[in-house]
Amino acid sequence: MPLSKDRQHHSKAWKVFRLQIIARDNFTCQMCGVLLRGKGKTAAEVDHVIPEALRPDLFFEPDNCWALCRYCHATKAQHIERKHEGDPVAIATAKKAHRRVGLDGYRW
Ligand SMILES: [Zn+2]
Repeated sequence: MPLSKDRQHHSKAWKVFRLQIIARDNFTCQMCGVLLRGKGKTAAEVDHVIPEALRPDLFFEPDNCWALCRYCHATKAQHIERKHEGDPVAIATAKKAHRRVGLDGYRW
């Protein structure tokens, strides 16, 4: 029996997983590149690229998760999810188009 959305977000497993994603992404917002810290706009959020409502089975899939700052999560990511509501491919494509370019010139 899968946990409800709310219970999953408060689970110990999510807390551990969330930190793993933020560390993997070098404590950096994968959309704008800001260093993730504090509790304001630059607070770390882990976003499901394909929203959990569409693919609950990808909740703990690292490839479907990335670290964003609170600002990008609340603006760009949620705007995309509303614009392409119900279409996982369009949502993932639109989000990845915001992926920042790494120091080596390649997109991450
Ligand atoms: Zn950002």
